[in-house]
Amino acid sequence: MPDGKPAGVRCVQLDGMNRCRLFGRPERPAVCLGLRPTPAMCGASRDQALAYLTALEIATAP
Ligand code: SF4
Repeated sequence: MPDGKPAGVRCVQLDGMNRCRLFGRPERPAVCLGLRPTPAMCGASRDQALAYLTALEIATAP
């Protein structure tokens, strides 16, 4: 995504299994490389992880 990924927009690099197509490749954005997931971020389910991401997006919205 040349202008960055806006909040709330699905990354174009996600495949049908929600896996990053760029994982392990040099084209993967530095911000993605630098993100270190934590148990609090991932939670115990997809819904918990999405709730965490939503809270981050709200907290960082312009
Ligand atoms: S790790 Fe980065 S490039 Fe890969 S799917 Fe997630 S936001 Fe997109």
